[in-house]
Amino acid sequence: METQLTWYGQSAFKITTATGKLLLIDPWLTNPVFARGKEELAALDLLIDPWLTNPVFARGKEELAALDHVDLILLTHGHSDHVGNAVEIGQRTGAKLVSNFDLNAAMISVLGYPEAQAGNETTGHLGGELSLLDGAVTVRFVPAWHGSSIQKEENAPPFYAGNPTGLLIALRDGPTIYHTGDTDLFSDMALVSRFNDIDIMLVCIGDHFTMGPARAAEAVKLVNPRMVIPMHYATFPVLTGTPEAFDGELKKRAVKAELRVMKIGETITLPRSETA
Ligand SMILES: [Zn+2]
Repeated sequence: METQLTWYGQSAFKITTATGKLLLIDPWLTNPVFARGKEELAALDLLIDPWLTNPVFARGKEELAALDHVDLILLTHGHSDHVGNAVEIGQRTGAKLVSNFDLNAAMISVLGYPEAQAGNETTGHLGGELSLLDGAVTVRFVPAWHGSSIQKEENAPPFYAGNPTGLLIALRDGPTIYHTGDTDLFSDMALVSRFNDIDIMLVCIGDHFTMGPARAAEAVKLVNPRMVIPMHYATFPVLTGTPEAFDGELKKRAVKAELRVMKIGETITLPRSETA
């Protein structure tokens, strides 16, 4: 089997490795686009691209219920559009939580993530690399310029959750994936590819809370991945960045990376690393 990547909308992805391990990143499956039907979406007056009417986006709850085996849940920061359904999935599947030290503590104490599934072996911090699942997956925490706090529910007071991070996920048989988390552009992004060739960069483009298309294109230029997949857009009306604008900004900069725009709910087969 080849490695598979599914996008659930916003920054939520599922990676199924070649050996059948299942990883979730920022698993907000019940996000407004993936979770709701067409009519409800129209009523919400969200920005609707034609591809959002893909029938799979109505399946957030069903997909959530169907996830019975998850090995790892990886989080970039504590905001609710990233923590998403992590606690529910963790409780049901026994998935281990992969996050930085402060976020880990907040996930356990504020949201009740099972402590036995969030120990030191899957907890790290900026610059550190974890070898997980018997070496099948390595994860490095890299910087992101954003905030990070956890709220028990909407309008509840925020709890400290440390620095936000990006995630560098290297699968043993390839590929190597860089998930930027929520961030602005910063020049040190170029360092991410100093130690690893990046096969796939998952980059936020929505603007307003993160970088928009132009700054995201500049980030791709710094990282120089083989393929780039945009994320963190179209979920809320304020996220105005679009894949079309992003494409234009990439072209303006003559960025070589292949742009792959995923549909919400779509699964693609990932190419192996060139070096693997
Ligand atoms: Zn976000």
